[in-house]
Amino acid sequence: MIKVIGLLSALLFVSAPRESQAASGDQDFYKGKTIRIIVGFAAGGGFDVYARTIARHMPKHLPGNPAMIVDNMTGAGSRLAANYLYKASAPDGLTIGNFIGSLLLQQILGDQGIEFDGRKFEWLGAPVMDDTACMVRAAWITARFFAHESCGQCTPCREGTGWLERLLWKIEEGRGEENDLDILLHVTDQIEGNTICALGDAAAWPARGFAKKYRDEFLQHIREKRCPLEGGSLH
Ligand code: SF4
Repeated sequence: MIKVIGLLSALLFVSAPRESQAASGDQDFYKGKTIRIIVGFAAGGGFDVYARTIARHMPKHLPGNPAMIVDNMTGAGSRLAANYLYKASAPDGLTIGNFIGSLLLQQILGDQGIEFDGRKFEWLGAPVMDDTACMVRAAWITARFFAHESCGQCTPCREGTGWLERLLWKIEEGRGEENDLDILLHVTDQIEGNTICALGDAAAWPARGFAKKYRDEFLQHIREKRCPLEGGSLH
């Protein structure tokens, strides 16, 4: 019996045998079915966010458009989830495990609590941004999240997160000017360290990081007055 896995740093692993209809590409296999992602960590953490993002978007890309749900199964650094996937879940292609990938190494090292054979898992994939992703759009999506989440109590956060979102969208739409990058960095300086809770810093850091690390891509948007990737894979 071969079980399939998918890993990330949060890694996704599935319990589907190679011989299954799912693996054979049967177009109707997932129609009307529900895929369950078992997350080895609690709701709200990184692994959980990855899984819920995948569950939200992946069904529309699968034949048959199955439902996809997330099930948090915490304990022993995600060993419980990995062990459950191996020992208890049906190998029918409808259960995906999302647990820490280093467990596979720990099996080799003879660590306690490993009750699976990693050789019988298959890696499905990892949620990453590849080189087709527009970094300006990625920065804007991140800024939009923080602008939405700001409670508005602190002026630097309330006003600054809105400024970041608007500036980044302006650049993404091809309306940006070169001094917008300086304004954006200035806004992040005004937010950082000047708010009551950590959301302010959390909003400033990624905007600054994207703008500095991918400055050339930002400038290309501004000079060509368009998104060179037309949003890339982040639509
Ligand atoms: S930093 Fe925190 S408390 Fe201040 S406005 Fe933002 S979310 Fe509210």
